[in-house]
Amino acid sequence: MTTAIVGASIAGVRAAQALRAEGYRGDVVLIGSEPVLPYDKPPLSKGYLVGAGAAEVTLLTAAEALELNIDLRLGVPAVGLDRALSELRLANGRRVGFDDLVVATGVRARPSPWGEGEGIHVLRTLDDADRLRAELVPDRRIIVIGAGFIGAEVAATALGLGVDVTLVSATRDLMSRRLGDEIGALFSQKHSRHGVHAVLGRTVAQIDGAKGDFRVLLDDGSELHGDVVVIGIGAVPNVEWLEDSGLEIDDGLVCDEFLTALGAPEIHAIGDVARWRHPVRGDLTRLEHWTNAVDQARCVAHNIAHPDDRRSYLPVEYVWSDQFNWKLHIVGRTTAVNPETWSPAGWWSFGPAAS
Ligand SMILES: Cc1cc2nc3c(=O)[nH]c(=O)nc-3n(C[C@H](O)[C@H](O)[C@H](O)COP(=O)(O)OP(=O)(O)OC[C@H]3O[C@@H](n4cnc5c(N)ncnc54)[C@H](O)[C@@H]3O)c2cc1C
Repeated sequence: MTTAIVGASIAGVRAAQALRAEGYRGDVVLIGSEPVLPYDKPPLSKGYLVGAGAAEVTLLTAAEALELNIDLRLGVPAVGLDRALSELRLANGRRVGFDDLVVATGVRARPSPWGEGEGIHVLRTLDDADRLRAELVPDRRIIVIGAGFIGAEVAATALGLGVDVTLVSATRDLMSRRLGDEIGALFSQKHSRHGVHAVLGRTVAQIDGAKGDFRVLLDDGSELHGDVVVIGIGAVPNVEWLEDSGLEIDDGLVCDEFLTALGAPEIHAIGDVARWRHPVRGDLTRLEHWTNAVDQARCVAHNIAHPDDRRSYLPVEYVWSDQFNWKLHIVGRTTAVNPETWSPAGWWSFGPAAS
């Protein structure tokens, strides 16, 4: 028996480890496109930007993989899936056969619609974080576009490094799409108090210039000037490699409540790429949260190791964020915080970070 896992980040690594913890004795092949040891992403907008080492974000070392008998293949993306043969096609021309396949390919940063080039950054990978942290030096002017979690965290971290930060967002407040206006406003005030220059309710029309002298033109005709631009406008599921597989792809790999691809009981999806039928709400749900990736990995590993005792996936839906000395915890659907869309399923709290 072989389980192939495509995507060697938190979901893929935890699935491989959980298979062994569940007593799975088959071969486990873990395939990752990046040529570095699997690493964790939450620190990339926080501690890693202020100088944490690569070892502090490593999720699985070669020695740990060996100990668990995980066949770790890094730097080699999967480029296709042959379902009739139950084989993966890899970019190096090799094929990997499987009995079960776990799709854990996550998402990538939505690319800049205003052009790319030196000095214009996104933040998703370790490589992105390395390039960005080299820019975060005191008094440098950084313009962060997008006030979701990533944009707000980068703004807070950069400010702490003495960088001059301007944050632009189409929303009225920081993270308000996710947190609602009331909590969003508290975060806007918090950022302003610390010295972030927030330009809210404005969209970017154009970016001109070059590193060291960018001009960001806004929809009201005003201009911002900065040395560096960071764009945090969401993410896109990594599903292109499955496009000719016949699997249902719609904003992720569509799965049933067991995280199994529709019509393909041997194929499972976990983490940011998985769009599964919520067993209680009944809707198709895709979450981009660390805890969800870990919990889905455990669920799928259990279902592969114990096919006679399959469990549906019912998440807690927990996410956290660290900004300045605040740690935000959210449980449930958080559009709830807006009084007009309040649902008792949502719960949030925030306060000084625990030391
Ligand atoms: C900067 C940052 C900060 C974050 N902070 C928080 C936080 O504070 N709290 C929180 O809850 N969540 C946070 N998140 C979100 C969290 O990190 C993600 O939910 C989590 O990483 C999802 O894990 P994943 O394994 O599903 O996907 P990913 O982490 O996206 O990993 C997918 C992996 O698959 C690989 N891959 C893609 N295509 C292929 C292919 N064809 N073949 C082989 N490999 C492939 C990719 O290279 C990647 O390594 C943060 C994310 C980022 C980027």
